[in-house]
Amino acid sequence: MTFHSFLVKYGEIGVKGKNRKLFEDALVKQIRRSLKSAEGEFEVYKEQGRIYVDCLTDYDYDEVVEHLQRVFGIVGFCPVMKSEAETPEQIAEDTIRFISQTYDTQDFTFKVETRRARKDFPVPSMEVNAYVGGRLLEAFPQLRVDVHHPQQMIYIEIRDQVYIYSKIIPGPGGMPVGSNGKAMLLLSGGIDSPVAGYMICKRGVKLDAVYFHAPPYTSEQAKEKVVDLARMVAKYSGPIDLHIVNFTDIQLYIYEKCPHDELTIIMRRYMMRIAEHFANEARAHALVTGESLGQVASQTIQSLVVTNEVCSLPVFRPLIGFDKQEIVDVAQRIGTFETSILPYEDCCTIFVAKHPVTKPNRNVIRKSELNLSEKINELVAEAIRTTEHIWAD
Ligand code: ATP
Ligand code: MG
Repeated sequence: MTFHSFLVKYGEIGVKGKNRKLFEDALVKQIRRSLKSAEGEFEVYKEQGRIYVDCLTDYDYDEVVEHLQRVFGIVGFCPVMKSEAETPEQIAEDTIRFISQTYDTQDFTFKVETRRARKDFPVPSMEVNAYVGGRLLEAFPQLRVDVHHPQQMIYIEIRDQVYIYSKIIPGPGGMPVGSNGKAMLLLSGGIDSPVAGYMICKRGVKLDAVYFHAPPYTSEQAKEKVVDLARMVAKYSGPIDLHIVNFTDIQLYIYEKCPHDELTIIMRRYMMRIAEHFANEARAHALVTGESLGQVASQTIQSLVVTNEVCSLPVFRPLIGFDKQEIVDVAQRIGTFETSILPYEDCCTIFVAKHPVTKPNRNVIRKSELNLSEKINELVAEAIRTTEHIWAD
């Protein structure tokens, strides 16, 4: 085991005082959660404004790196070698070993920075810097010192043990999940909504999700695809309680009673109403959708206004200003794209009109919904009652 520990760097500027403790505690909790499924045993703890992950057993380095790179709130993390060195000579030898194991090629400029947290260590930090620097130059002829703009900093911290670290592996940034409340994501099988969930979760928000399923118009495979997407988002967000609503009877009823060019907008209003019901039940504070302005007919400003008026919780649309390509780029980066493009039908495409209204008028839509008054409450109640829950983890 080359690295005995990881030093986690975090710090959203402006997170201060009481919120800072909340942030740190949430981060420790999320790191523990993310490492649960990794091989090996780890201890995660906070010490003097820092978070460490100690590796107690053998572990798979690449796996741990991959897991930590999905924990929001981590700006970067450094693999740390812990050494029992007691003298500058021993520290230098361990640092040489550290450099050869950390870097594939040793041809960069560097600077050594030593901190003596243990003041009874007999040699001053400056002397340790100079001595270790000299030994590194001897050991690796391609290395050069640059005290002003080094390509790599080599940190040596003398505590009860000596901590040697240098390389910073970038983390995903953002805020730890759970530090900013909870939201209900409307998750379809498309490209956009998983990305929207990812982005809100990146701001520290815990997620649950709801999917509107319309069997037999949408297949079991379409549902499985959404479950898979929820599991992919859950790698970042932690477990998601996925609500699967059977929406068929509501859609058929709207199809029967309302003008077909208004189907999409009326369907979306019912989706929002039901999603809000589950949000309240789960004590979520907002809804999240993958809408992007102008992308399709149901995503004009007028449509968004008419959709919003049926719910009182705020609706977060993190992709509102994104181009499709920008959304695709994120989907590829977070690993949802390939699943999202699997060609299963989606419940909106089946009931969609040839020429849907793009500028719905709220009074017209409200009036059309009156046609549903006979049975709709009963159908909504039934859909809520028969909703299936899948724990996506
Ligand atoms: P996506 O790629 O996320 O499916 P889209 O471009 O296909 O989005 P729409 O179908 O208009 O756009 O849906 C807009 C948003 O409404 C989706 O991003 C999602 O949040 C929500 N939504 C649409 N259909 C469903 C569904 N069947 N179940 C849950 N949410 C849905
Ligand atoms: Mg869609």
